[in-house]
Amino acid sequence: MNWSLNIGKIFGIRFRIHVTFLLLVLFIFISVANQHGFQRGLWAALFICAVFACVLIHEIGHSLIARRFGKEAKSITLLPIGGVATMEEMPEKPAQEIAMSIVGPLINLAIAAIVFLFVDHWTGVGAPNLYPDSARAFFAGLIGVNVMLAIFNLIPAFPMDGGRVLRGILATRMDYVRATSAAVAVGQGLAMLFILFGIFFNWWLALIGLFLYIGAGSEKQQVVLKSLLNNVPASEAMTTEFVALRSNDTLRKAIEQFHHGCQDDFPVLGDKGIEGVLTRERILASIHEKGLDVTVSEIMDRTFVSVNPKMPLDSVYKKLLSNRKTAVAVVDNDSVKGMICLDGISRYFMIKTAMGKAVAGN
Ligand code: ZN
Repeated sequence: MNWSLNIGKIFGIRFRIHVTFLLLVLFIFISVANQHGFQRGLWAALFICAVFACVLIHEIGHSLIARRFGKEAKSITLLPIGGVATMEEMPEKPAQEIAMSIVGPLINLAIAAIVFLFVDHWTGVGAPNLYPDSARAFFAGLIGVNVMLAIFNLIPAFPMDGGRVLRGILATRMDYVRATSAAVAVGQGLAMLFILFGIFFNWWLALIGLFLYIGAGSEKQQVVLKSLLNNVPASEAMTTEFVALRSNDTLRKAIEQFHHGCQDDFPVLGDKGIEGVLTRERILASIHEKGLDVTVSEIMDRTFVSVNPKMPLDSVYKKLLSNRKTAVAVVDNDSVKGMICLDGISRYFMIKTAMGKAVAGN
């Protein structure tokens, strides 16, 4: 269990709420009600829900623009620290990334403007108040929070939207990896300033700085890894020495192979080529459930994924993750050329990195 409750679908995007978010609302209600009475507790709980609704609309904005560019949004989860939109992949064309990223903060500004225009003429502007005691304070607070959300998200540092906008702008004049490096450098410089100022003036600022510093580093790592993966064909990282099973082999035979070699995943061949993949998990589970004389064809994974030897490793990796598989078969003209597993990809990179270092050191 991942502690997220499925709420339903909005625009076809799965929407979930993390249990801790509900606990946060409950906590705010109880603590404010205790100090300032039931009614204010209710206002406070309502306010925090309204803030998160704005965060949700912000995330939906990102997802819908991403969808326009053909990148499917999988789900949006509300956490106590904000919303997280899970996407299969991010748009990489600079203009698309800029559009997708900037829409979130713009939505917050639009919400602030709408509340200001349509509601605020009778409430008057006030400073953001986390514990409103009236409709007036509630809407004034909502304006303040949305302006703050827009500003915070526009900080040009990963993983904030502003970091992506900056990379998008840079990527119009240099390649994607260099643009990322430059944007990361700007973000980390800014994060250092936050940390420095924060230590003297405000610990929250220091904490945000630390969060931004780490976020920027991991974005760079991902992009560099991705660009490396992108330039390597599947055939480079596959194991070419492997044992294949026949579909009418028994589990007993599969176990013998499993037992005597280091291979975890076996392609299963029939008369017309590959018919399935038998993974370590299936082998181990089937020993107990089906006994040793069951045939491989009865227990193999028929929904296996196969890829072409020329497919970039980056796409292979994505296929593995999105299909929740541990291994894929590399197939060319109906014959199995090799196998690639998640472990194999990381092993490939360990070797490549070590070799790169050796070359750089000479
Ligand atoms: Zn955003």
